[in-house]
Amino acid sequence: MKLQWNSDNTYCQLPDELFSYVQASEISRPELVLFNESLAEKLGISLTLSKEEQAKLFSGNLLDETWTPLAQAYAGHQFGGFGMLGDGRALLLTEIIDPLGQRFDIQLKGSGRTPYSRGGDGKAALGPMLREYLISEAMAALGIPTTRSLAVVKTNEPVIREEKLQGAILTRVAQSHIRVGTFQWISQKGDSGLQKTFFDYVINRHFPKLINQEDAAKQLLLTVIERQAKLIAVWQSIGFVHGVMNTDNMLISGETIDYGPCAFIDHYNPEAVYSSIDQYGRYALHNQPNAALWNLTRFAETLLSLLDTNSENATKIAEEALATFAPIYYQEYYRLLGQKIGIMDLTSADYPLIDRLLELMQEHQADYTNTFLVLQKSMTPPEWFNQPDFIEWNSLWLKRISNQEGYLDLMKKVNPLVIPRNHIVEAALQDANQGDYRLFTELLQSLQSPLNPPSSKLQQPGPLNERFVTYCGT
Ligand code: AMP
Ligand code: MG
Repeated sequence: MKLQWNSDNTYCQLPDELFSYVQASEISRPELVLFNESLAEKLGISLTLSKEEQAKLFSGNLLDETWTPLAQAYAGHQFGGFGMLGDGRALLLTEIIDPLGQRFDIQLKGSGRTPYSRGGDGKAALGPMLREYLISEAMAALGIPTTRSLAVVKTNEPVIREEKLQGAILTRVAQSHIRVGTFQWISQKGDSGLQKTFFDYVINRHFPKLINQEDAAKQLLLTVIERQAKLIAVWQSIGFVHGVMNTDNMLISGETIDYGPCAFIDHYNPEAVYSSIDQYGRYALHNQPNAALWNLTRFAETLLSLLDTNSENATKIAEEALATFAPIYYQEYYRLLGQKIGIMDLTSADYPLIDRLLELMQEHQADYTNTFLVLQKSMTPPEWFNQPDFIEWNSLWLKRISNQEGYLDLMKKVNPLVIPRNHIVEAALQDANQGDYRLFTELLQSLQSPLNPPSSKLQQPGPLNERFVTYCGT
């Protein structure tokens, strides 16, 4: 078959240690349940196929004649422990070039076993794939760098987890799926030729400005650090807990990837953890910057021999680069939080005002997202706004913004009215599992316009003291 897509595959031209050609599992009755029209338009991919053909396409059962699906090899530190991994249930269908000349991977998740599946079945369940679709699209609408979701196909075949679930395949779109873990895979191979070939590929693909630069490895490291520092800052500012910040889940492009055990906080709690397996809070909300820096340190280790032929010099360059993470992170984090309370010309003198607000939210178990909405007068104040500690903070804040006419406008431009609230997402997924997509569609539409949602009934936090739990590898 020939599609009218601007396909252009380059990953398959890399040395074959980096991937394996794999065909998707055959699915006899695939059914397209979600398709992201606006993303398809942005990508410049038109679909003149019948519904049945689309379902086959997005389950890997119908291929363009130029495609050679492959599973990518990568390694990773998972909760600190190193392993050789790879796409155990994903397939890169193709790369495409969009009308602006940008390259994207089109990848299936849940399309069957690969040489990297280890003990896994290569499959994915409908609920988690719908959840990834919803949350990744919510992140995109908030302007946060993220992989996107193009389609969900129901396989109409069961997936066995703790119970029998409906199977599904998600089509994921990313600038690339090159991870910190991909560099770690190459490091483990100990082949400097392979390392250089891959390094050049990454520079060409993601950082063309660095081509022929003598210190390209250092610049690459600095750029990746900067992107991650800014990414984690925006996660923190929005109350997003990724939940599984392993090195295989950190993309070199700086996009958020792998929406497994992630969740948005409701009441403000720096120790918020949702993942069932994160017993010690390694990836708790307040640990995310440290976890990112830990991963970036593993990334720097893979680049040492390219940073300098002298190992002492190389270590020094890496350490200096890693030291840029904290200042970039803090500056960006406070800039974003400053905007959320309407401060345009933020300086470090404002940091205590922000810290104090967060402290008050924690003490009063206040909903994080809605507190900003109350401050910007989009919601009625809760009880604790009458208490002396808040009144004191409020007067300091009002004094701070008294000379800024547009502060409310600024706040309204950045504070989402609707986020993917755990209890609402769960209710939407439960209905969708029964074939009723009404709540899912309503929620998706609201999340796609978070500043101006069609309905405000999705703003209610879930019940306090009811711990919400999410699971990996679903
Ligand atoms: P994740 O926790 O989703 O980042 O996945 C970690 C590793 O486990 C990756 O190598 C995945 O490809 C693999 N994996 C996760 N779920 C499955 C599955 N159901 N079958 C095979 N491999 C899987
Ligand atoms: Mg992963």
